[in-house]
Amino acid sequence: MIPKDHPRYRSLIIRERIIEGFRRGIVSEAGLIAHGRGECFDYLLGEKTHPFAEEAMRAAVAMMKLALRPVISVNGNAAALVPKELVELSKILNAPLEVNIFYRTEERVQRIAERLREHGADEILGTDPAFRVELENISHARRYVDRRGIYMADVVLIPLEDGDRTEKLVEMGKKTIAIDLNPLSRTAQKAHITIVDNIVRAMPRMIEIAKEMDEEEAKRVLENYDNKRVLAEAIRTINKRLEELSRRIF
Ligand code: ATP
Ligand code: MG
Repeated sequence: MIPKDHPRYRSLIIRERIIEGFRRGIVSEAGLIAHGRGECFDYLLGEKTHPFAEEAMRAAVAMMKLALRPVISVNGNAAALVPKELVELSKILNAPLEVNIFYRTEERVQRIAERLREHGADEILGTDPAFRVELENISHARRYVDRRGIYMADVVLIPLEDGDRTEKLVEMGKKTIAIDLNPLSRTAQKAHITIVDNIVRAMPRMIEIAKEMDEEEAKRVLENYDNKRVLAEAIRTINKRLEELSRRIF
């Protein structure tokens, strides 16, 4: 048990959820490492949602609202951390969930789908080999997408995605929305909208935004959005924070 007054209580609780996900076969070994990388950037960000992330979330919801075929891609870490929120956002935005994992085993795909079903998901894409399409020029295990999902999608939400696949999706003409704590990752840099925030804070906030935003507002939000500015702001924020913290020491 982690004592509630531990200064890093929340971070440790989230870490426990990842470890539990690993034990249940939902999170991969590489997912554990990816989580540690995320923790590091969250530490640099002060473990809070900044205005640049809020702005990106609003644009993300707007883009998904205006999309013809939005899809939410789900990997092991996302399913371990925010299963309930993934299901809820999927229902509000009418965007199916697709299991889409880097280190693919059929068992892990089924475990992830099971976890989403436990949290109320009805239909889950990416699990039925009959609808599997192979992408070209991408290595074996991670090149599969669902014909009814990501393959046909115009907008894809990719929480915690790998850079290669983000690049591939962009190349295929998809609009991509990343949730990634590292503003320097290839995913963060390649996506059309980059939410530099922890998925555990971003998903509940996106649900709130999705409940409030109408189409008119969505159009307005998207027109005024500039991802380059938002990404630069994220990097600058880390920079400023480090400057301040170092000055406090000397
Ligand atoms: P890229 O492949 O995009 O260049 P990478 O190889 O460094 O990045 P991956 O393991 O491919 O990283 O992707 C995992 C990404 O998810 C990392 O950038 C990490 O910071 C981020 N991440 C990990 N945990 C979280 C979380 N809870 N919320 C948001 N982002 C996270
Ligand atoms: Mg990577």
